[in-house]
Amino acid sequence: MHEMSLCESVLQVIEQQAEAQQFRRVTAVWLEIGALSGVEPEAMRFCFDVVMQGSLADGARLEIMDAPGEAWCLPCAQNVAVRQLYDQCPHCGSHQLQIVGGDQMRIKELEVE
Ligand SMILES: [Zn+2]
Repeated sequence: MHEMSLCESVLQVIEQQAEAQQFRRVTAVWLEIGALSGVEPEAMRFCFDVVMQGSLADGARLEIMDAPGEAWCLPCAQNVAVRQLYDQCPHCGSHQLQIVGGDQMRIKELEVE
């Protein structure tokens, strides 16, 4: 399950932030998960609790925000919404799409004490 290593890198970022910004406890984490990132929100929830155990984010609430997939369509010359990788353009049916959003996972916000 690659969500486990994703949670571990989330924890690393939190620890770095804690050092830089001098906080000791994290009570909530907002994670933005792109529709095209291939990350399973449910698996993240499961791994999150396991990975955060004993860390400064032990017992922290995990809030997951969805980020819609977005791609640049070459023929249409505009951004279009896509639900999954290798989708076709909803307007012209082209596959000449370049993903421009919703393909990653990132920490949006931390609630700290
Ligand atoms: Zn198009």
